[in-house]
Order: sequence, then structure tokens, then C-alpha cells
Amino acid sequence: MPKSVIIVGGSIAGLLHGVYLKRHGTDVTILEQDPHAIRSSHNAGICFGPSVQEFLRLYDDTGSQSCQPGVVIRLAYRQNLYWRETGIVRHLTSWGVLYRILRANFDGLPSEAVAAPPAARPGDGVCKYLSGKKVMSVHKTLDGVVVGFLGECGEEGSSAADLVIGADGLHSSIRTLVNAPMVKEYSGYVSWRGTVYESDVSPETARYFQDRAVLSFLKRTYIVCYIIPLDTGSFSPGTRLINWVWYCNLPDIPENNLTELLTDSNGHTHTNTVPSGLVRSEVWQAHLAHMLPLIPGPFAELFAKTDRPFVTMVNDALCSKATFLDGRVLLVGDALATFRPHFALATEQAARHCLGLGKVWRGEMALQQWEKEAVDHATEVWLRSRVMGVGLLRGWVEFLLLAWKYVVFLFARFKTGVWPRY
Ligand SMILES: Cc1cc2nc3c(=O)[nH]c(=O)nc-3n(C[C@H](O)[C@H](O)[C@H](O)COP(=O)(O)OP(=O)(O)OC[C@H]3O[C@@H](n4cnc5c(N)ncnc54)[C@H](O)[C@@H]3O)c2cc1C
Repeated sequence: MPKSVIIVGGSIAGLLHGVYLKRHGTDVTILEQDPHAIRSSHNAGICFGPSVQEFLRLYDDTGSQSCQPGVVIRLAYRQNLYWRETGIVRHLTSWGVLYRILRANFDGLPSEAVAAPPAARPGDGVCKYLSGKKVMSVHKTLDGVVVGFLGECGEEGSSAADLVIGADGLHSSIRTLVNAPMVKEYSGYVSWRGTVYESDVSPETARYFQDRAVLSFLKRTYIVCYIIPLDTGSFSPGTRLINWVWYCNLPDIPENNLTELLTDSNGHTHTNTVPSGLVRSEVWQAHLAHMLPLIPGPFAELFAKTDRPFVTMVNDALCSKATFLDGRVLLVGDALATFRPHFALATEQAARHCLGLGKVWRGEMALQQWEKEAVDHATEVWLRSRVMGVGLLRGWVEFLLLAWKYVVFLFARFKTGVWPRY
């Protein structure tokens, strides 16, 4: 195990790696650019995969409920609200709940979700979560790595460790600083998102969403809805939020004027997301007026009752390398690969990276092998998510082209015998 590690980015990937390393005796410092101690989720849901569950089973000492397990996926098609029950199940929660559970385990941060954080285990490393520190540089030294950062008031600082983990998301600075080879692209569609308290909708709508995650397929647009807990960690029926994501085409062509969409109510133009509460009312109302006549009842009610929607350009990014500076700098989570969110696999990917690195640190796997598996898995999910998104939102030509690329990728993998388990 490395003796000391600096993690850049204190969101889900950073905290998963932080808790893992701490539990194995490593001293960990997380540097997070956001200055707030307790952070709010975007009030949108996330999905748990097997690696996240395995991680929490091994390293979570809070005893808190982390997700709503085993929610069945229902499909709706146009006006047919009960088109198919799939039998596919998902474990669902909110970013805020998972973040609070991980913080309680990492540095004992109390919150409404985890009022009494657990004590450290014997042998745990020393942990620091430093908010308001934006990492600006990274250099290899004779016996480790040094990162330079700026504090909230622009003051400069630096910190040294054996290893640096870049867990700094889609717009990763570490990825840029190490010149990682990558592709990053706008998908040509956006996701509108929002939440409504289940107690604020009609009894019929509450019943429709109460125990199902629903995917509603419409003409070249689709909606995903499911229930999530509040950041306080309450999973009790009646107290929760119905969370919706609505994918809509918006190719980057002059007529669509993306700048207009991304300019908020204060006149500020965002690069990617116009946050909740800042979307200009006329933009949202114009979108609703255009689309609402096509939308089935329960979904239309959710949109009409959402006070503070937000909108994000759906981008993806893929790096073909995960280790840099002789293995002293690693990229994990969304910094390595950001997927279009159709399969909701971002958190699962972050936990996979962490459990895989555990094998490296225990001497069961070479770092190069970990990197190969991480990049291979990322490429597969990145391609698959593109096929799904394009199939549901764009034309046949684009879909067939991407589906063909995906088949070629799978065939090449099959031929080389590399067929990892997901
Ligand atoms: C506040 C927040 C709320 C979110 N809510 C949701 C949600 O509701 N649903 C959902 O599906 N996904 C959500 N996400 C995204 C989700 O966490 C990721 O898609 C996924 O879990 C992988 O996480 P990640 O840690 O790799 O990347 P991210 O979650 O994007 O985290 C990257 C972190 O790095 C920090 N960072 C970036 N650059 C620097 C720098 N130079 N120095 C220091 N720190 C830096 C960022 O502030 C951020 O905290 C949210 C992310 C954040 C940050």
C-alpha cells in the first residue's frame, strides 16, 4: 500500500478511493475545489451497481440505509403507460445520501443523513478533506509527487505524497496537466432534470411511480423517472422525491443557439449545466409549450409541478491511458471516462476502479493490467451508451453506424479472448 496519497476531487470517486485507502492504513488528503463543507446533490438520482454494494459491505461502518434496493424497471411507450414490466431491477439513491455516508466513513463529517459518524477502525490512516482547494499543478519528484493548489482567496499551497489520484470528473485538471490522450464530445442532446415531492403530486401519479423506475419512450425523446431519498437520508414513503430526467435533441447548429439555452437568469453563460434555480423561466416554458402536448399524464404533471428544473448538455469523454508519471499519477471515475448517462454506470465505474486498485496494492495484479482493464471496460460502456442514446434520440443512420462500431469492438475483444465480466 502507498503510505500517503493525495486525491484531487472530493466527490464520489475521490471518497470511494479515500475510504478504501484509509481502511488499509494509508494517510489520505482529499483536495476539493468546492468551498462548502456539506455539499448538495443536483437533486438527481444515482444507481448502485454490484461494485458499489460490495464496497459498502466491506467499508461502510455507518449502518445507514444507502439505497432503495430492487426497484423494477417499467417501460412506457407513447401513451401506453404500462407497456412492459421488464423484471430488471436497479438499486437507487441520491448523490447526496451516498456522499454523506462516504464522508462519515472518511473524515467523520456529521450530517442529517449520518448524525453519529462511526469511530475510526484500529489501523486506519489519517484523513483530511480540504475544501476550497483547486489543484493547478502536479510534478513528479525523486520519491513522490507534489501538487500545487490555490485556496479560496487565491493563496498558493502545495502538498506532497507517494501517489496522486485524479478523481476530478468530466473536466479533470489532472487529465490536462498530464497530457492524457482523450476524446471529449457533445452528444447533440441535452438532459432536462428536476424533482417533485411525492406528496405534491396527485394520488394516481404517486401510485404510478411509487415502486417502479419508469422509462417512457416517445418520438426521438425519452424520459426516466424514479424515486430518490432527500439528502437527509429519509427513505420513508411520502417524504421522498420523484426524480425525472428528460433527454431532448439539440444538435450544436446555429439555429439551435445553445448559448441562449446555457445563459442563466443572471445573464451568465454556463459551459455545461445551468443549475437548478437559474434556468430562465421563458426557456423552460417555451420548451414545455412545444413538447407538453406529446407527454403522457403522469409525466406532464411532474414537469408542470417542477419549480426548479435544470439542464445539462450530455457530453462524454474517454481517455486511453489511466497511469502517468511512472505510475505516480492515476486517473479514476469520470476523469478517466465519462459516459452518456443512459445506463447510469458512473458510480459503478468509480467503485470498480477502486476495488481493482485494491488488487494492485495487495500485489494481486500489476498496475498495467489494472489500467488495461479500466480502459477496456470504459471503452465498452462509452460505446454502448452512445449506441443507446443515439438509438433513442437520433436517426437510423447514426444508430447503425455506431452499432456497427460497437459490434466490431466486441468482435475484436472476443477474438483476443479478453471478455471481462461486468
Ligand atoms: C455536487 C455534485 C452532485 C452530483 N449529483 C449527481 C446526481 O445527482 N446524479 C448523478 O448521476 N450524478 C451526479 N454527480 C456526478 C457523479 O458524482 C459522477 O458522475 C460519478 O459519481 C463519478 O464521480 P466522480 O467523483 O468521478 O466525478 P464528479 O462527481 O464529477 O466529481 C469531480 C470532483 O472533482 C472536483 N474538482 C474538479 N477539478 C478540481 C480541481 N482542479 N481541484 C480540486 N477539485 C476539483 C469537483 O468539484 C468535483 O467535486 C454529481 C457530482 C457532483 C460534484
